[in-house]
Amino acid sequence: MTENYSTETVGIDFCPFCERVSLTLPKLSHLDKQTQICSLCSHIESMLEFKYLFNGNSRKILEERLNRINSDMYKIENIDSHKFRYLTMIKSLMRVNLKNFKA
Ligand SMILES: [Zn+2]
Repeated sequence: MTENYSTETVGIDFCPFCERVSLTLPKLSHLDKQTQICSLCSHIESMLEFKYLFNGNSRKILEERLNRINSDMYKIENIDSHKFRYLTMIKSLMRVNLKNFKA
């Protein structure tokens, strides 16, 4: 017996980041440069990257940010979601930044 698990809805765009229906999905997510997301979430991605990846001038600040993103991720129930995978990518980039930072 076969069942159809497809969640694709013809003619309606679904943004995997905010998990809402959007009229248009005009931007590519930085996660894979393939997944289309809505323009608001594209803006959110840019802000998250700025918030977590740039302007870290001490090891302590970088570690605080890492703790913050861990607690943000803890609130996400679906670990297969686009948002969780995106934050995982940010976290691994943060770890690289931290590793390059001499204590
Ligand atoms: Zn969205």
